Amino acid sequence: KNYTREDILRMVEEEDVGFIRLQFTDIFGTFKNVAVTRSQLEKVLDNECMFDGSSIEGFARVEDSDMYLYPDLNTFEIFPWRPQQGKVARFICDIYKGDGTIFESDPRYVLKKVVDKVQAEGYDFQVGPECEFFLFHTDEGGMPTTITHENASYFDLGPLDLGENARRDMVLTLEDMGFEIEASHHEFAAGQHEIDFKYDSALITADNIMTFKMVVKTIAKRHGLHATFMPKPKYGENGSGMHLNLSLNRDGINVFSDPKDVNGLSREAYYFIGGIMKHMKAISFITNPTVNSYKRLVPGYEAPVYIAWSAKNRTPLIRIPTAKTAHARIELRSPDPTANPYLALAVCLEAGMDGIRNEIMPPASVDTNIYRMSKEERDAIGIEELPGSLLEAVREFEKDAFIRGVLGKDLSEKFIAAKKKEYRDYRAQVTDWEIKNYLHVL
Ligand code: GLN
Ligand code: MG
Ligand code: MG
Ligand code: MG
Repeated sequence: KNYTREDILRMVEEEDVGFIRLQFTDIFGTFKNVAVTRSQLEKVLDNECMFDGSSIEGFARVEDSDMYLYPDLNTFEIFPWRPQQGKVARFICDIYKGDGTIFESDPRYVLKKVVDKVQAEGYDFQVGPECEFFLFHTDEGGMPTTITHENASYFDLGPLDLGENARRDMVLTLEDMGFEIEASHHEFAAGQHEIDFKYDSALITADNIMTFKMVVKTIAKRHGLHATFMPKPKYGENGSGMHLNLSLNRDGINVFSDPKDVNGLSREAYYFIGGIMKHMKAISFITNPTVNSYKRLVPGYEAPVYIAWSAKNRTPLIRIPTAKTAHARIELRSPDPTANPYLALAVCLEAGMDGIRNEIMPPASVDTNIYRMSKEERDAIGIEELPGSLLEAVREFEKDAFIRGVLGKDLSEKFIAAKKKEYRDYRAQVTDWEIKNYLHVL
């Protein structure tokens, strides 16, 4: 897509757009927006739309809180789910400060900066995500529950499956919005689904992930369901991941491919794996940024626990999918959908590039089942674990100056402070588990 100002004016006119949402992402990965009517379109296109950044978590301080939204014209999209009268459209925006300079802690800018740097080295980062989510019922008050329609339908005779219908509607809506959906299927747990869209350049994919989550939640609601991207909504069931399929192009050619290699991978691909593995513990803080994220990364639920790679196993941290030359890639399986996609892709790309720049060879692949190995056996071949909690992850992030540097000082400090507070608050809770296990016996 390469929209001009005239294209936008024409589409808004022809499609009778009444409202325009100016979207951006806060540092925690929440989609925000300021809505304006069509009368403001010229102003929007002149980059003159202002908002008060002080009310957005992790953004401006009060004294310099005026910020501007610069629409990225290529992200213009008309929402297909609104009534015909006065359609609603959106732009994803970049954030500028009151003085007209770029806001360095805008997550979208953080990713752009890394992508531009790597582009200067000749590479174009390609990412294909696999987003998993649950569809749950809402109660009479409209509040989300963790009850799935599938439990409810267990005794039903009707062939109607609310979840499958909702998922089909999601896929069709996404296609209306220009997504190429490669696969969609029911996932392992009751009420759990996955929809995979086609890989693209990193910035487009990060924008797509934000749009994807919004569409999934919106359409679920229309079907009377609640869609959640919470990594582990139910004890004893699989959690929801956001596997990332990563590769690098140079002049439009996938440089991760080498048909002569046993795994079909080039030296660049191995170095990229080496870089990711080197920084993996700190990366986890960004790719798994909530208390709940670490409840998913436990043995027994198809989620990774150990820092290792394999071309044979399906459940290691890094898997090499069997693929034709053009699609050679590595699949990173630890990220979950609560990650801010801009920041997650930025740290993955820089870590991988650190591997390429410094020719970091990864350790040998582990093709046996790590879950059956003892701690001694793992130690003997140097297999480490992912952080076990948000607290461990933040400490790893604090230790890794290279990964902190990707986010920059200001953003890193804000992220660390907010996540430490989140963890402190969680730590002070008394959980059902404790009541069940301690109240009677202690
Ligand atoms: N849901 C699993 C996870 O937590 C992945 C399952 C799969 O896609 N094979 O990552
Ligand atoms: Mg999948
Ligand atoms: Mg899956
Ligand atoms: Mg996968």
